[in-house]
Amino acid sequence: MLEVQDLKVSYGRLEAVKGISFTINQGECIGLIGPNGAGKTTTLNAIAGVLKRSGGSIAFEGEKLPNQAPEATVRRGISLVPEGRRVFQGLTVEQNLRLGASIRSDKEIDSDIEAMKKRFPALEKYATTRAGSLSGGEQQMIALARALMARPRLLLLDEPSLGLAPLIVDQVFELVDQLRSEGITILLVEQNGLRTLELADRSYVLQGGRIAMSATGAEDFAEVEKAYFGAEDSNAVAKETAND
Ligand code: ATP
Repeated sequence: MLEVQDLKVSYGRLEAVKGISFTINQGECIGLIGPNGAGKTTTLNAIAGVLKRSGGSIAFEGEKLPNQAPEATVRRGISLVPEGRRVFQGLTVEQNLRLGASIRSDKEIDSDIEAMKKRFPALEKYATTRAGSLSGGEQQMIALARALMARPRLLLLDEPSLGLAPLIVDQVFELVDQLRSEGITILLVEQNGLRTLELADRSYVLQGGRIAMSATGAEDFAEVEKAYFGAEDSNAVAKETAND
């Protein structure tokens, strides 16, 4: 479904992503894990067309994606839930959801909004409340529901569990699992390495802008730890995961 080949992305003279290649098959949930500054967000933003790539190519469903064209990417069926959620704080929950459907012109937008409210009961309760006044977990649900309103076939999730209480983190991971079982393909960027390894069909470990290794499950955790920080600090991921 998605083929990333030799992707390079730079910020001025800093090359943050240094030629990475990976594929995602239809219906998979693929994890992209790694320490701070590894290039995970940069990769996701380049796929979403938010950032311009300086090299390489990205093909979606067999066709090349244009460089730095976020709206065209959404129209093609790829939606991004950005890091830090970035909901429209001054708009109501329902207005946020409606904006997620701004590329659509079909007659099912209202019924999709009702379906989102059923899926996320808090969104029903706070439909007319300003999004900015809600909790981090509720804002994450708005951001997810807003992305789903575009009816994506590929969902890009950037650290959806960041800064959330453990119970809400559980809900987020359950939701990702559920969306995959409904047929949505997912690329999940996470710092929560172990949870991601457990959930994803396959995970790639990014380190210093390169793919250090790929892993298939929790049994690869020890090796992933080494790829994160090197053998001398192999407890670091465990500590980070325990703190999440
Ligand atoms: P994090 O978990 O901290 O978000 P990450 O793996 O997502 O980490 P990126 O945010 O993609 O990493 O950052 C990769 C590199 O690019 C880092 O060295 C970072 O400092 C740098 N970088 C990221 N955004 C910018 C920017 N807007 N301008 C300049 N450098 C940037």
